Amino acid sequence: MSERIRPRASWDDYFMSIAQVVATRSTCHRKYVGAVIVRQRTILSTGYNGSIRGMPHCIDVGHMMEGGHCVATIHAEANAILQAAKNGVSIDGSTIYVTASPCWNCFKQAANAGISRICYGEFYRDQRIFEVAAQIGVELAHIPVKFKVEMVGPED
Ligand SMILES: [Zn+2]
Ligand SMILES: [Zn+2]
Repeated sequence: MSERIRPRASWDDYFMSIAQVVATRSTCHRKYVGAVIVRQRTILSTGYNGSIRGMPHCIDVGHMMEGGHCVATIHAEANAILQAAKNGVSIDGSTIYVTASPCWNCFKQAANAGISRICYGEFYRDQRIFEVAAQIGVELAHIPVKFKVEMVGPED
């Protein structure tokens, strides 16, 4: 019997890999993004980029392109913030783990929702977030993805 001890995931790696699993639910194939909002090592909310509740998915009907971006979807970070609002969960002082760095709009929303730490898996776009985060005291941390998450078998 082998008793190989594998490395234990750090808390940052743990929540970032959960964000990757969340991203597998994304319905816009331009970019699959997942987000997890955490405070005191407890998950408060999750979100992935997808259409308005009740509207068809990009993966089924195609995108709604505007200025080079798909505007059909609500981004993962925004959906995680909205899910917290919908359920009456305070996210003040929380950390958000998101597989791709927030766009300018999501960054603004995260800041005003009281999120104080933003951990991103890969840089997506918009350098402004670094400058403004430093100005307003929001911590931005790059947590490189260490686990590859892939679907096996048929989707539900
Ligand atoms: Zn789309
Ligand atoms: Zn966004």
